[in-house]
Amino acid sequence: MSRSAKVNQVILIIFDDIRAEHLFKMMKEGRLPNISEIAEGGIRCSNCITSYPAITFPCYGNIVTGAYSGYFPKEGSGVPLYHWVDRMDPPSTRKKFPFIRNYGDWSQLLKINNDIGNNVKTIFEQVPGENMLSSTCFLFRGAQFTIAENYFDVEPIFTNIEKAFKNPGEFFSNKEVPLITIGYVPHTDTLMHDFGFNNINYINQIIDCDKYIGSLMNTLKKEGFSDSTAIAITTDHGNFEAKKVVDLEQFFQQKGLIPYIPKKGTGDFDCNFGSVGFFNFPGETWHHHPTNQEMQKYKASGIGKNNLNLFEVLWEIPGVKFMYYRDDDNKPEKGIIHIEYQEKKSGKKINGMIEYQGFGIEQKTRYSFDVDDFYGYSENENSARNLDNKFHTIDEWIEATNHIDFPIIVDQIPRYFKNPRSCDIMVSTLNYSFNYEHGKTLGISPYSHDNGLRESMIVPFIIGGPSEIPQMELAYCKTTDMVPTLLDLLGYKPDSSVIGKSLL
Ligand SMILES: [Zn+2]
Repeated sequence: MSRSAKVNQVILIIFDDIRAEHLFKMMKEGRLPNISEIAEGGIRCSNCITSYPAITFPCYGNIVTGAYSGYFPKEGSGVPLYHWVDRMDPPSTRKKFPFIRNYGDWSQLLKINNDIGNNVKTIFEQVPGENMLSSTCFLFRGAQFTIAENYFDVEPIFTNIEKAFKNPGEFFSNKEVPLITIGYVPHTDTLMHDFGFNNINYINQIIDCDKYIGSLMNTLKKEGFSDSTAIAITTDHGNFEAKKVVDLEQFFQQKGLIPYIPKKGTGDFDCNFGSVGFFNFPGETWHHHPTNQEMQKYKASGIGKNNLNLFEVLWEIPGVKFMYYRDDDNKPEKGIIHIEYQEKKSGKKINGMIEYQGFGIEQKTRYSFDVDDFYGYSENENSARNLDNKFHTIDEWIEATNHIDFPIIVDQIPRYFKNPRSCDIMVSTLNYSFNYEHGKTLGISPYSHDNGLRESMIVPFIIGGPSEIPQMELAYCKTTDMVPTLLDLLGYKPDSSVIGKSLL
């Protein structure tokens, strides 16, 4: 143990798709005794803010790296989203047509280890040594990756970790236990999408996981590692139930908009749309992002109107409340994201913008609007303080907005749009669900998790185990604080790409 280290090993468990309010309620009801024991003896926060958009990738990848998306040729993660079109800045001349990345496709999922780029590092890459273990954590660069033979079984995610502490020689040639372990549980997300957050199968899955964590704690005790191993628990995002489910296939057909087919280079648009929609259109070629003028006078290849104004077309999608797009003159280090908002009752449109400058931890952003504040920041003394026409850091935004809807969204939107792989127009409905991916409606589930409201954005943050870990309850934190805090417990400094801070 180095002089400043409080523990010798850390184990991070990332559950997919559990709200902080639900996990802490179950703990209060005595249904998760093992997670409660870890939380009560250590660091706990029921107001941890995840990344926006609240989608598995980037959210879970950002936990593992402690960073966010950005202009990845220079800084930040190259993964802006679960789905993206491979466009570069400047546009690629080597490839015929840009591919569509979709991590929902098994054959593409592990490519994320390369996609994140070299300007961010997984927690495994941020410390020396080789004893790093990933148990079903798909972003595992720098670690030994294990996955259960029967992927549909949750228990092996935990028993594999137990094995590494019982028989480390099975995993590592130096026969020492893993220094850093991440166990990732995707199964909770599948159940939430299929059945919802009140469903008994979803709830029982969380209760089962608590039992597996209890078994892991017993193994650590038996093998003599319980007082030197921190156990951390968090989730990538929360969830919500949409009020309306709509099939968009016909809508696009009627507009004459044909889905992009990368192999042929044909088509007018690519889109994936839960409650937030991400639209890609070709500029000069599919490698180029279009200018705003090009999107105002757009020629669709299907039977429909020519000179489509895509901004007007996308406003016709039911339930749309927000629209976001880049300014044509944006640079990685400085630029503007335009926002249009439609008031539900009056139908009145309000314009606003987010201006950004700087990179990484030094990025500063300013939010302004022409008539009214549409995020509700002005209604609250704490958040209204940041409507002072000045640029603010992520830490200033989290301090001001951690207790309301749309927490840190002003910081997050530019980090997304700076990435050349991000879309051209993003629209947000907050409470509709479309289940639309690349030309097809894939389901009718109303259960989703991408919006900027608290139910999606607030996750649990727990670190406990050894008595050396201080007991404290935090008023707020962010998911990217997990990596630097765990590294601090181990006595290491995080990589310079890490945006989060140690909470110790
Ligand atoms: Zn997820």
